[in-house]
Amino acid sequence: TPEHDTLLDVFRASLAAAPDTVAIRYFDGALTLADLDAASDALAVALTGSGFAPGDRMGVYVQNDPAFVIGLLGAWKAGGAAVAINPMNKAAELTYLLSDSGATALLCLEQLYESVARDVVASGETKVQTVVTCSPLDHQSRDDARVLGDVVRSRQEGTLDLAELLETHAGRTPAPVSLSGDDVAILTYTSGTTGRPKGAMNTHATMVFNACTYREWMRLTPDDVVLGVAPLFHITGLIGHVALALLLPCPLVLAHRFHPEVVLDAVREHRPTFTVGAITVFIALSGVEGVGREDFSSLRTIYSGGAPIAPAVTDAFEERTGRYIHNIYGLTETNSPSHAVPMGVKAPVDPNSGALSVGVPVYNTVVRILGEDGEELPPGEVGEIATSGPQVVPGYWGRPEATAESLPGGELRTGDVGFMDEQGWFYLVDRKKDMINAAGYKVWPREVEDVLYGHPAVREVAVVGVPDPYRGETVKAFVSLKPGSSVTAEEVVAWAKERMAAYKYPRSVEFVDELPKTTTGKILRRELRDT
Ligand code: ATP
Repeated sequence: TPEHDTLLDVFRASLAAAPDTVAIRYFDGALTLADLDAASDALAVALTGSGFAPGDRMGVYVQNDPAFVIGLLGAWKAGGAAVAINPMNKAAELTYLLSDSGATALLCLEQLYESVARDVVASGETKVQTVVTCSPLDHQSRDDARVLGDVVRSRQEGTLDLAELLETHAGRTPAPVSLSGDDVAILTYTSGTTGRPKGAMNTHATMVFNACTYREWMRLTPDDVVLGVAPLFHITGLIGHVALALLLPCPLVLAHRFHPEVVLDAVREHRPTFTVGAITVFIALSGVEGVGREDFSSLRTIYSGGAPIAPAVTDAFEERTGRYIHNIYGLTETNSPSHAVPMGVKAPVDPNSGALSVGVPVYNTVVRILGEDGEELPPGEVGEIATSGPQVVPGYWGRPEATAESLPGGELRTGDVGFMDEQGWFYLVDRKKDMINAAGYKVWPREVEDVLYGHPAVREVAVVGVPDPYRGETVKAFVSLKPGSSVTAEEVVAWAKERMAAYKYPRSVEFVDELPKTTTGKILRRELRDT
């Protein structure tokens, strides 16, 4: 049972206990909990002064920067909630998120204001009245890296500037507000790999619960150092980096965006002990020239979630780095984990499908496998995963129908298909919507991908169904190769054919340099299907 109701309580308890704890390491700079407190006080005072009221929403349109965390704390201190926005989003997406959430304030990177947000705010299609800009760090070279507040910058007309607020409002504390566990802390929009984004209502209670889940499950303490490799606008980054580091409390090492060399530099310098991110991130890190076991020696615990992991990939990673990647599974709607492999345990691989287990349900989490008619299925049978627990969101912002459909009675219908074995380990088969129907045979892309990952030349792979006049749909693989490898499409097909049933193996293979991905590192099968 978590000892705090809200993330603000979490922050304040850590601050009271150890104000000088380094909360964020960003390139060569560091911010303590006390620094975050002062900065977020200033922001909250300014927000309140500009009419932002308890219950209001502020968009946070910033990369993985300390300002992101200051933005969250500032919005909560003003009694409101944050809307986490992907900094890669363009005008139409930003307009959609701001309008859908009804945000009245926006914390925005200066360049993004210039290039995107100014026009969006001016268009009048949103309710945004207050814009606070923040300056990015110059991240071209480490020598140039500066921590927020170190630079004086010009204020955009009609906007407030975070660094200026720190000066003008220094020492002022916001009026107390009352937040409860049931209040929305952050709206996170589902990443849209399958449809129009919906704002999951991550409440303080659901977030605090899973921040505690990480702490207990991975046995983390204030002596740990968390490496941030997931984007902060995504639930993995919000819980597994920000909320977790504030709770312990311990330093969170941030880099403005995921770049393997930059992140490796940070690993070498700050010696993080824990990280969680997408498997593509770990593939990229272990692929850097010259990387070795020493680089990963401090990182005693690594978890990977958000996308399927082929056993061949974790094996190769372990061989290269000496570290085992633990699988962790969850959705935006479950505030990151609903399942995880226990720390220090190697997950089993299903002997039939070759899938790596996603682990077992985390604390207080009840998971059922449902058949076509919603009936509960016994172990071993494949059906939709339905999850309930204290980390499950109560619904989608402003969407009672979508909430009723996805969360009947508070139980989340995940849209993922899977099963539980006799020992209680869970396996994902695939997403319901990604099933390929090849002449009536069900083909789950994931299983085919796992086999293709075993090919020594394959770096990344995505399998989709493409229209076929004879079979209705047929299996196609998009493959990117490891640097220096060469193989023909026929060879890949032949390799797969040898290892799986005739209806499953890909009939065609297309080589691509890079697979399309979301900023969270997920491969976008939908985009490939549409090509
Ligand atoms: P959208 O809902 O818009 O399609 P999304 O589902 O990608 O976006 P997220 O909540 O970020 O949004 O992703 C959750 C999904 O990611 C899960 O439903 C599951 O399909 C997949 N996933 C998460 N963890 C794992 C894992 N360990 N192994 C396999 N798949 C995973």
